[in-house]
Amino acid sequence: MSAQRDTDGRIYRYRLHGLAFKGEGVHGAAATWIVTAPVARAVAVLERCQPADEPYLFAHPLKSANHQRHHVAGRVRTSATTIKDITALAKWINSYCAVHSRVDAIPEDKGRLPRLTPRQFRRTLAWFIAHRPGGTIAGALQYRHQRIQMFEGYAGTSDSGFRDEVEAEEAFARGQFLAEMGADDDRPALTGPAGAEAEARLAEFARHTVFDGQVVTDEARLRRIVARHDTHVYPGTFITCVYNPDRALCRSREASAGQPVMADCQPQACRNTALASANRQALADHLARLEDTLAAGDRLAPYVRHRLEEQHRATAAFLTRHTPEIAE
Ligand code: SF4
Repeated sequence: MSAQRDTDGRIYRYRLHGLAFKGEGVHGAAATWIVTAPVARAVAVLERCQPADEPYLFAHPLKSANHQRHHVAGRVRTSATTIKDITALAKWINSYCAVHSRVDAIPEDKGRLPRLTPRQFRRTLAWFIAHRPGGTIAGALQYRHQRIQMFEGYAGTSDSGFRDEVEAEEAFARGQFLAEMGADDDRPALTGPAGAEAEARLAEFARHTVFDGQVVTDEARLRRIVARHDTHVYPGTFITCVYNPDRALCRSREASAGQPVMADCQPQACRNTALASANRQALADHLARLEDTLAAGDRLAPYVRHRLEEQHRATAAFLTRHTPEIAE
């Protein structure tokens, strides 16, 4: 594990170094993962649970029966013991929830906790990165920072296929969200430079996903449709990206042309920008927050105040330009 620090000595990135085996043959290949601070802490705890000469993070813990039985260098936890660990973790979470009267325990299936394999566990994590409980897209919300850190901004040399799983779940979450939009005849139209194109893509998508005013409810079928008819429309908090690689301003030369790099979005200049009503509301809320901050402007450094004033002016003009006039 190594940590990178800024000029003030604050850690801003952890790198985990190891061997990746997936698709790499029996000897593995040197790999680096970018991890978050809680992961770095968990790794440090695991390292302390093992003797200094133990090369494996997931070797059997020193005092465990497995360690006594298999104390041979190279003995690590198998898939079967990992399944037991995941089940033990789920049990611990549920007893914690019971003790603290929390309602977000892991749901049981026919009176028993689900027994997850490592693959199912990974897919569950991918689902939670891509979805918000209750439906829509979460990628832009609670896991956004971690996602950018791991996958977009500072990609490591190996991602063990997890990135593909997260991207597949994100594409499906996006497809579900857009299918619901396409089925809603009463919603306000998207505006902005790419508003008309967004509406055209949504209408085309709805031809495959909406029947008798209802979105396809069979998940497997909807997954197939979404995979086959990607709209390349990416809903975000402040804008909806109607992706067209030739016009994208966010793409660095190294980035794949397949999808936008939302972290580098230039919404006010890019012609792929569209605004849904939720985006317009988010921009209006952002403007209100800027106004609150500027109201106490004499406490701000002149440079900061100047930048905020500029941001306020540009955002207000952008919003006015792309807010539809309400018919009298
Ligand atoms: S700059 Fe923004 S709107 Fe333009 S393609 Fe990139 S993410 Fe989409």
